[in-house]
Amino acid sequence: MIYQRSSALFAEAKKVIPGGVNSPVRAFKAVGGDPIFVERAKGAYLYDADGNKLIDYINSWGPMILGHAHEPVVNAVIEKAKLGTSFGMPTEIETEIAELAIQMVPNIDKIRFVNSGTEACMSAVRLARGFTGRDKIIKFAGCYHGHSDSFLIQAGSGAVTFGTPNSPGVTQGTAKDTLLAKYNDIESVERLLQENEGEVACIILEPVAGNMGCIPPADGFLQQLRALCDSHEILLIFDEVMTGFRLAKGGCQELFGIRADIVTFGKVIGGGLPVGAFAARNEIMDYLAPLGPVYQAGTLSGNPLAMAAGLAMLRELNDRSEIFSSLQEKTAYLHKGISRELSRASIAHTINRLGSMISVHFSDMPVADFDSAAAASNENFNRFFHGLLKEGIYIAPSAFETWFLCDALSYDDLDMTIKAVGTAATKLK
Ligand SMILES: *Cc1c(COP(=O)(O)O)cnc(C)c1O
Repeated sequence: MIYQRSSALFAEAKKVIPGGVNSPVRAFKAVGGDPIFVERAKGAYLYDADGNKLIDYINSWGPMILGHAHEPVVNAVIEKAKLGTSFGMPTEIETEIAELAIQMVPNIDKIRFVNSGTEACMSAVRLARGFTGRDKIIKFAGCYHGHSDSFLIQAGSGAVTFGTPNSPGVTQGTAKDTLLAKYNDIESVERLLQENEGEVACIILEPVAGNMGCIPPADGFLQQLRALCDSHEILLIFDEVMTGFRLAKGGCQELFGIRADIVTFGKVIGGGLPVGAFAARNEIMDYLAPLGPVYQAGTLSGNPLAMAAGLAMLRELNDRSEIFSSLQEKTAYLHKGISRELSRASIAHTINRLGSMISVHFSDMPVADFDSAAAASNENFNRFFHGLLKEGIYIAPSAFETWFLCDALSYDDLDMTIKAVGTAATKLK
């Protein structure tokens, strides 16, 4: 495959946009080479600026669970756009999508819509601090909750891909209120709670981590966190920006049978438009302005185009709940195939998978937290990435990201992917 035009477009972009991209993970900095410029996409496929067709395992980093340019979603946006694109006044569709989300997700009475996952997590933490009257938060190394200051402490995703887990520009005053625990290690949380008794407002985590590769919670980990939150009167925040409406209708609360106090959403809930949301029971949500004292706002929040896309998406997921098991079966099939090909080539690997999230780590050790994810071979990952790309398979350009499967992927696509893995494996060590 040739990427001449993409490279030319990238050279132009770099002159006017820092690093040529509007979000760092899009650059190929970790794997080397120039990023691919996309022209359009349909179903499971991307069509790039050079006319290549790629099977897409990024799916816009999660939102496109039904595939690209899904007709009901596109049509909903077109019809809404004809009526005006933003009013800064309430619209009926905001209530419709809120009602549906509350019906699909357990333990939430009210939901507020924002414009990104970052905003959702930032607002959820402010709400937790306001509600409890405490300042400190606990987060886990390798978990990513967007780029707001409090979270850029050992964050996952692009923050680790580029080796800058702690960003300059985050003040020490902010950093000291973020306590760092180890994923899947309940003792690391207990220790922090002992050392900071009465000062912690909330524990925030990805209930299935997806920003250091895919790392499911160890047996009992979420239950133990729930119990600790109850005994210390701390709020448990599930950041379901990635997992919400992807792993189950009701997300990880439903999947694991664990109640969170606040849940954040993004990605799928916007159907590919810029949407985030946070939700909780009445007691907590009524603490928000204009009802309560915690301020949170947004000129474009609840934007009609975004709500139309999100509503069309949620409606279909709600009506076709077999999608979740069908995606899981496809992912299991892919897992088996990749594992077979890598084993045949005698390449050390660990594959983590849950639902439609999967990641390949070039390590013969279990990958259960940030340290074990970071211990895998980057060199092999980079060769693997470029090897797959050559065969027309597009995965995230970083070992610290999960792959996402979408409903539009066929078993033929999966077979082509597995075959490409076999070819790419011959170039690994
Ligand atoms: C993507 C992501 C975010 C940030 O969402 P943006 O829309 O990129 O701001 C937050 N948390 C998790 C778990 C994510 O995967």
